[in-house]
Amino acid sequence: MKKLLPADFNFVLKLLYALAFCLAALALNRQLAFYNDALLTLAQPLAPTDIKRVALTFDDGPHPVYTEPLLDGLKERGVKATFFVTGQNAAIHPDIIRRMHDEGHLIGNHTYTHIELTKSNRETFKQELVKTNNVIQEITGEEVLYVRPPYGAWDKKLETELNMFPILWSIDPLDWCTSNSSCIAQAVIKKVGENDIILMHDYYKTSVEAALMIVDELQKQGYEFVTVDKILFD
Ligand SMILES: [Zn+2]
Repeated sequence: MKKLLPADFNFVLKLLYALAFCLAALALNRQLAFYNDALLTLAQPLAPTDIKRVALTFDDGPHPVYTEPLLDGLKERGVKATFFVTGQNAAIHPDIIRRMHDEGHLIGNHTYTHIELTKSNRETFKQELVKTNNVIQEITGEEVLYVRPPYGAWDKKLETELNMFPILWSIDPLDWCTSNSSCIAQAVIKKVGENDIILMHDYYKTSVEAALMIVDELQKQGYEFVTVDKILFD
């Protein structure tokens, strides 16, 4: 048998040192991972159930005078909303559409001329949706996925034909038929609950005033205003 030389012992010793070092590094790494996990658990934000969410939606715009002050008010308050615009108004005010998009609001389709779907105009209605999608997409560069059919009239088959999803509402304060903004605001505040979708129109001064009153009150009550897709699909 070959006699072991001191050089061989040296080699084995070095090997053992290397092994011990690796084990120590591994243990340290595990310890750090454990502390990291513990810290992450502590730093968790409030559970989603603690935040009540609600969505403001505005139809028929953009309006040349009233939509921008609404956007100013929403921006000041950190609120995201959803705008269902008509193609004809979007085409006249691309700058306002661009601003909505840049400020994180969701933009949906409300047909080109505010046409109501009936038994006899399905093809025209469909063409209006396509035309409006093109106008919005041209401005924002983003695909339009949501539609609010005027008067709520819809044909489910259009969803697969156009790859679009209809969004209705759960609270309608009839903001277009009263000129008293406090009344509009109260009509919403009295009824509102978690995950409600509020229907309003940025086409009237009183509606814009009412919307900001609603935001101020509901934020005090702990509500967070989100775009409608967050309520329906998150
Ligand atoms: Zn409308």
